[in-house]
Amino acid sequence: MNLHEYQGKEILASYGVSTQKGIVVSNADDAFAAAKKLNKETGTEVYVIKAQIHAGGRGKGGGVKIAKSLDEVKEIAEKMIGMMLITPQTPPEGKKVRKILIAEDVYYPGESETKEFYISILLDRKNCKNIIMYSTEGGMDIEKVAETTPELIFKETVNPTIGLQKFQARQIAFNLGLKGEAFKDMTKFIFSLYRAYVKSDSSLFEINPLLKTSDDKIIVVDSKVTIDNNALFRHPDYSDLRDLTEENPVEVEADKAGLNYIDLDGNVGCMVNGAGLAMATMDLIKQAGGSPSNFLDVGGTADAERVEKGFRIILKDPSVKAILINIFGGIVRCDRVANGIVEAYKNIKNINVPIIVRLQGTNSDIAKEIIDNSNLNVLSAIDFKEAADKVQEVIN
Ligand code: GDP
Ligand code: MN
Repeated sequence: MNLHEYQGKEILASYGVSTQKGIVVSNADDAFAAAKKLNKETGTEVYVIKAQIHAGGRGKGGGVKIAKSLDEVKEIAEKMIGMMLITPQTPPEGKKVRKILIAEDVYYPGESETKEFYISILLDRKNCKNIIMYSTEGGMDIEKVAETTPELIFKETVNPTIGLQKFQARQIAFNLGLKGEAFKDMTKFIFSLYRAYVKSDSSLFEINPLLKTSDDKIIVVDSKVTIDNNALFRHPDYSDLRDLTEENPVEVEADKAGLNYIDLDGNVGCMVNGAGLAMATMDLIKQAGGSPSNFLDVGGTADAERVEKGFRIILKDPSVKAILINIFGGIVRCDRVANGIVEAYKNIKNINVPIIVRLQGTNSDIAKEIIDNSNLNVLSAIDFKEAADKVQEVIN
């Protein structure tokens, strides 16, 4: 589950990570009031207004603005709320801004220079360990740094048995070129950030920029947080953080129906029971010259209702040219699934793409008979190869 910047910052702050203060709002009057409140609490007279969308690069796209008065905050908020914000990471038409974060300016002048760093924590799946990635070259051009000067990005691997070690936090602060108070604050910061990552069951923290202020404080200015969905049951309070408007509407609908569905770009819809078989089916479609328009695992109980729901979801994609149903009847009997398919087909009146059904397992022969005698635009196949050939046939 991806979070908005403001939500990520709230989680970080709840674990004691030092974070730029801000208040999220969804209209200009509240923006004005929020800035006033920040002024009272922090003394700041400069404010940052930040569009809250699930995409980075907002600074480059006009989604981060500075205001020097309360009236200016209101003015900018009026323009920003409701706009379609286009950044290098959004779809071409942009993303609608529904909420904005009003934050205190932390780039105030002072004794020393401000400095933007980059730091992220993520799971290195290959090595089964968390890694901390960091760089002195934080800010808006980190992608360019990764491309042209990757040697400026450092990595620290954390051993899961013993956890983050003090020498590692010091190594990071040292490589970031810090001294004195800022060095000390950074080592403390690294520990609090790592602890927050583990405790919140996140799979990604990306803090860019992480700022050293002009009075040598280390503070989070931007956050990208991804919580591991498989651990959400341990954090019931995080479930409200999900923003359905940022997700694919068809995937949201499938999720509500208990179907594991992922939207893809291709032209062959597939409905399969079991994730492994679903992946093999996608390979099969590719090999037959097509490309899957979705991943759909209907689960162990492929009854008529689920099959129908699956059909309806697959058919929402106008690029679907054929549907391949590949069900293994182990727990569920193939004849029941076949009846379910025929019933669903009749219930949904506008199916005008060919359907290839491969049912294997208990009562598969009876199932084939049911499909063949249904007089519907449904082709049945018994084995994998036959199904592949039929997919190829209808695609061509
Ligand atoms: P992103 O572009 O979507 O990653 O958004 P960020 O939150 O990283 O903001 C982009 C840029 O805005 C940062 O790199 C900063 O240069 C600038 N910025 C963010 N917060 C402040 C602030 O409090 N004061 C000033 N002056 N600039 C800020
Ligand atoms: Mn950023």
